[in-house]
Amino acid sequence: MENSRWESGDPISMPKRYDHLENERHWQTAWEDWGIHRFQSEDQASPTYSIDTPPPYPSGEFHMGNALNWCYFDFVARYKRMRGFNVHFPQGWDCHGLPTEVRAETTYKIRKRDLPVAEFKALCIRLTSEYIEKMKRAMKMMGYSIDWNLEYRTMDPDYYRLTQLSFVLLFKSGYMYRGEHPVNWCPRCETAIAEAEVEYVESEGVLSYLRFRTEDGHLAIATTRPELLPACVAVAVNPQDERYRRCVGKWIEVPIFNRRIEILADESVDPNFGTGVVMVCTFGDKTDVRWQKKYRLPVVKAISEDGHMTEEAGRYKGLAVKECQEAILSDLKQEGLLEKFEKLRRNVGTCWRCHTAVEIMSRLQWFMKTRDMTDEVVNWTNKISWVPEFAKHRMIDWATSLDWDWVVSRQRVFATPIPVWYCGRCGENIIADEDWLPVDPRFEKPKVERCPKCSSQDFIGESDVMDTWMDSSVTCAVHAGWPGNLESFKKLFPADLQPNGLDIIRTWDYYLMVRHLALFKQAPYKTMLINGMVRGADGRMMHKSYGNYVEATEAILKYGADSLRQWAAGGAVTGQDIPFRWSDVEHARRFLTKLWNASRFAIANLQEYDRVTEDVELQVLDRWLLSRLEKVTKEVTEAFENFQFNVAIESVRKFTWHVLCDQYLEAVKHRLYSSDIRDMSSRISAEYVLYRSILRVLQLFAPICPHITESIYQQLKPPTEPVRSIHLTRWPSVKQGLIDEDAEKRGDILVAVISEIRREKSKRQVSMKAPIKHLDVYAGLNEQKMLEGNIETVQRTCNVGSVDIKPLEDASPRTPVQEYASIKIRLEI
Ligand SMILES: [Zn+2]
Ligand SMILES: [Zn+2]
Repeated sequence: MENSRWESGDPISMPKRYDHLENERHWQTAWEDWGIHRFQSEDQASPTYSIDTPPPYPSGEFHMGNALNWCYFDFVARYKRMRGFNVHFPQGWDCHGLPTEVRAETTYKIRKRDLPVAEFKALCIRLTSEYIEKMKRAMKMMGYSIDWNLEYRTMDPDYYRLTQLSFVLLFKSGYMYRGEHPVNWCPRCETAIAEAEVEYVESEGVLSYLRFRTEDGHLAIATTRPELLPACVAVAVNPQDERYRRCVGKWIEVPIFNRRIEILADESVDPNFGTGVVMVCTFGDKTDVRWQKKYRLPVVKAISEDGHMTEEAGRYKGLAVKECQEAILSDLKQEGLLEKFEKLRRNVGTCWRCHTAVEIMSRLQWFMKTRDMTDEVVNWTNKISWVPEFAKHRMIDWATSLDWDWVVSRQRVFATPIPVWYCGRCGENIIADEDWLPVDPRFEKPKVERCPKCSSQDFIGESDVMDTWMDSSVTCAVHAGWPGNLESFKKLFPADLQPNGLDIIRTWDYYLMVRHLALFKQAPYKTMLINGMVRGADGRMMHKSYGNYVEATEAILKYGADSLRQWAAGGAVTGQDIPFRWSDVEHARRFLTKLWNASRFAIANLQEYDRVTEDVELQVLDRWLLSRLEKVTKEVTEAFENFQFNVAIESVRKFTWHVLCDQYLEAVKHRLYSSDIRDMSSRISAEYVLYRSILRVLQLFAPICPHITESIYQQLKPPTEPVRSIHLTRWPSVKQGLIDEDAEKRGDILVAVISEIRREKSKRQVSMKAPIKHLDVYAGLNEQKMLEGNIETVQRTCNVGSVDIKPLEDASPRTPVQEYASIKIRLEI
């Protein structure tokens, strides 16, 4: 395989069967050795093309969704390189955060609290490194043309130094602040989480009707959260609700806790929910948060950070939320204060990682001021181009729906430390200087002697850490060389392409946008390329628990990366969900076999290759094929330019399979076989056209199937060819001069007649080589004209004796004829 047929002296060294595993592995190593995927930082001449690859979370598994994502990046990267761009295709790993901690806890059967911070962190690093290696192997097996010289891990100090630097800069420019505000809180993970990390799931709940005492009797109030009674600070009714108008402003008593609170009137109360009277608690939901501010209600923290009742809950202190709910209901029942139950379907916010129901809690946290940026985000979102267009609205809808700032602090261990200390006496914030970074205030002291405000020497290091999106939402800048390499930054920022899945628009794309807008006053990407989600064969999302899960490596081992890559390209329109079907991969594999066999046959017959020149005398079928070739080149080029990979692959496959293999190759076989010196010119022109079209097909197909195209290219290219790899050849430009409508029409008819003859022979179970005594072709007037002068091609291709071309109407319905469009034929064998 290493030597082309020219070097080895063999007429051909293509085995009958294409071994995908051997070939794919071979080329992956060779490309790495040749360094053909490297970004050329010294290259000043070529235009750059930068892809802001999303650093994946190292889960250890490379699932079909990942495979699809990276296929899209790689199609673009390979295509752009062939277009002459100096492509920047880095690969990072988004190591930090909740998922890794949860996995470290389950893998090593520990709780983070059981270990010192540094030890727990070390376990996370160990686990992450193992997972990265596994995923990297899968990525290499897929043949992705990542520049591994540009690899980084967000958990390494040289990366998180930059995360911290951006924090410091954003603090200085007023974007970061610390304050006590309600945040979403996961009691299982014991940390604040951002709105983007809350997943709403519909579930069945119970609506309990509780009796509250009033001045002149009682009111019933329906609630799904009776455990929040200790945090109930008011009740509210709609001011238009006649039933309760007289109560507004009066007191009402919280049962069990016997606290008197006020009855408020607020337009947003739905009179049709429950009894039309609602509890206002700190905090049952976002409405409570709004009302707490609006009516300046007290804040009662009845639930602790780990999901248990606090002393505010009196005798229920220490119970888990669920236990408290049951206890309160049972006590209410005994006192006759529970009127009835109803079942209720409702949306519950859950933690995206562990699926525990989230609470809203008010705690001191760090925030990024993102709410003020909404207009700016929407403007830039509209300015950049989105593929597909509809994905843009996801971003705009999300940005405009946010009503809280982004909470960036987390109460976890394995994450980038927040580079801040607090004065133990006066509470002043001591923000790290840029040149102290990277720094971990959990273990290190600030490099100042005294508090600038009160001169105290007592400092408390921040023990909270950063949201993992703080690491991964500065990638565009980091990839481009920020902050050290200004020259590179100018070239590579903003990224030309931001490719990712539909599911992370509201997180990754949004956070990238706000971070870079705040830091650089510019959107970080020019084009968004969004891929859909992978569904299982059963139409549901692919998921382990559904039994429809397939790991990418399983498919590669079975059918080869080039087959799986074809599935990724052709399975769906860009941006639509894509089903994973084994049949698609099998079909892809059959195509590779077809391509291999056809190329093998053609290359073995390229004997007179050395004599092939541009000025060979072409026959009508040659011109027909070359014209078609230019058209398919045009189609595929446009498809790649517009990221329509399904169109690209369908065009190449259709052309290769039907036009090149089934029609042209069959029609010119006799020319290749001929050893008659008088046929030399005809043979050379057939060889010329075959060489050209196979090379072209390989090029058009190379971004999607990089391995097999390389294997064939190495056999096809002549010894004098200086271009080492198919991937280093220049993308073909369309030669308008070769588009020949007349030759296409004539060729179409010849090909039709030839196909009809073959079909008829196969129907009669006659050998394809069997000579035909006489052929009648019935054709319309135009077709007759086109056939005249070219019918010899049919005769020679199909070994036909005499031919008569007759008017179409002469073919009587009783004549046994085969019909193709406006021609009919009759054979005498
Ligand atoms: Zn959680
Ligand atoms: Zn101080």
